[in-house]
Amino acid sequence: MIINEAEIGSLLVRAKKPDPVRIREILAKAEESQGLLPEETAILLQCEDKDLVGQIFQTARKVKEQIYGKRVVLFAPLYVTNECVNNCLYCGFRKDNTGLTRKTLSLAEIAEEVMILEKIGQKRILMVFGEHPKYANIDFIEQAIDRAYSVKIEKGEIRRINVNLAPLSLEDFKRLKAAKIGTYQAFQETYHRETYIKMHPSGKKADYEWRLSAFDRAQRAGIDDLGAGVLFGLYDYKFEVLALLFHSMHLEKEYGSGPHTISVPRLEPALNAPAANRPPHPVSNDEFKKLVAIIRLAVPYTGLILSTRESAGLRDELVGLGISQISAGSRTYPGGYKDQLAHVEVEEQFQIEDTRPLDQVIYDLCDKGCIPSFCTACYRLGRTGENFMGFAKTGFIRDFCTPNALLTFKEYLLDFASPATRQVGEKVLAKHLEGIEDRVVLERTVDKIRQLQQGKRDLYF
Ligand code: SAM
Ligand code: SF4
Repeated sequence: MIINEAEIGSLLVRAKKPDPVRIREILAKAEESQGLLPEETAILLQCEDKDLVGQIFQTARKVKEQIYGKRVVLFAPLYVTNECVNNCLYCGFRKDNTGLTRKTLSLAEIAEEVMILEKIGQKRILMVFGEHPKYANIDFIEQAIDRAYSVKIEKGEIRRINVNLAPLSLEDFKRLKAAKIGTYQAFQETYHRETYIKMHPSGKKADYEWRLSAFDRAQRAGIDDLGAGVLFGLYDYKFEVLALLFHSMHLEKEYGSGPHTISVPRLEPALNAPAANRPPHPVSNDEFKKLVAIIRLAVPYTGLILSTRESAGLRDELVGLGISQISAGSRTYPGGYKDQLAHVEVEEQFQIEDTRPLDQVIYDLCDKGCIPSFCTACYRLGRTGENFMGFAKTGFIRDFCTPNALLTFKEYLLDFASPATRQVGEKVLAKHLEGIEDRVVLERTVDKIRQLQQGKRDLYF
């Protein structure tokens, strides 16, 4: 059994009122970036003491910095269809929401959206689909991905397409793999069965096991780059974090690596979505920061993704505590980028809190000394799944990811940045170049930056 609710429950009961000495022992282990066992994670989750929670944050900051340095990977979602046969009580795309204008982009419209994203410098997109046999079947999904990859402008192209779509059959997953996706992302929403059944009253999504087994089918179809997630606010966050860990351990045991990423969406108000507008288990900002820090410690090599559902200020804090990828400048309905240019406002999937344009997000990241990254090297060089984890755990991220982040950032500065962002960005770039200790790596990076200045593009290690 992947998720044993009784076991999770008893881990949480046993971990209640944890001994501060034990917490410090666990943090000392976590600081070595070794990850945590479920019982250790449960103890951190049950820690309510302010000072000790402060120490959890401090350790998470150290682990984040050790493994990821100052890099923050950027991407944009591209909503393809809001047609959906399911009735998830928290989602504005649910079938019973008659107040929503339904729309599926044509292939030409997908190309238009992609072009808009390319023109501002995006290189990585997440294509999002509702679940619908007519509007989101595998034939269309394949065509949509293919079309998006095919759009190239003078200085822009999409180099990695991740997808967020409902679980597929083994055969359809094989076709998805052949479409050259990066990550296949599907959130369990809640791992708690009773809550899951309440939240998904009808449609295919009502089948908990079908969703939970999606990554096993994907792995068997050859997709080893998987994105897990929980929709926080549906059930007790402590239970959900442990369940995420058990799911990850299952994948690691069976296929050699856990999920490549974990997303941490938190319920936001949505049109005609009763559970979104009154979350059954609201998660406060402090709890949210704590759970992000604990996930960072429990699975240090798993990327952590945050969307624009959260405010700019909170996103900054969460990046420090463990988030490694953020979306920026997002629109969360089909055709949203084109509408934005035309100043048209349509109902989004959920309310966005961080509405800053990409260039502003990049400016603000630079202001805090972070390196914005558009890197897609690992996916294109086949460093995924077990392969990726093998690399990641040997200091590879420091030697490859930082130079790759700097190269993709340099491209952004040359081709897309506003004058203010270029100015602060060049300073950040110079500072981080200085920080590369290995002389050979430094020389190779400087050489590639020179080539970018001379007009070459898409250089990576
Ligand atoms: N239909 C696909 C599925 O359900 O897997 C994927 C598309 S769905 C639009 C993507 C994700 O949006 C869901 O998995 C859910 O976690 C998230 N979501 C839905 N309603 C939300 C809300 N009100 N606030 C925040 N996130 C929400
Ligand atoms: Fe449909 Fe996904 Fe929204 Fe549920 S979360 S209503 S399956 S789009």
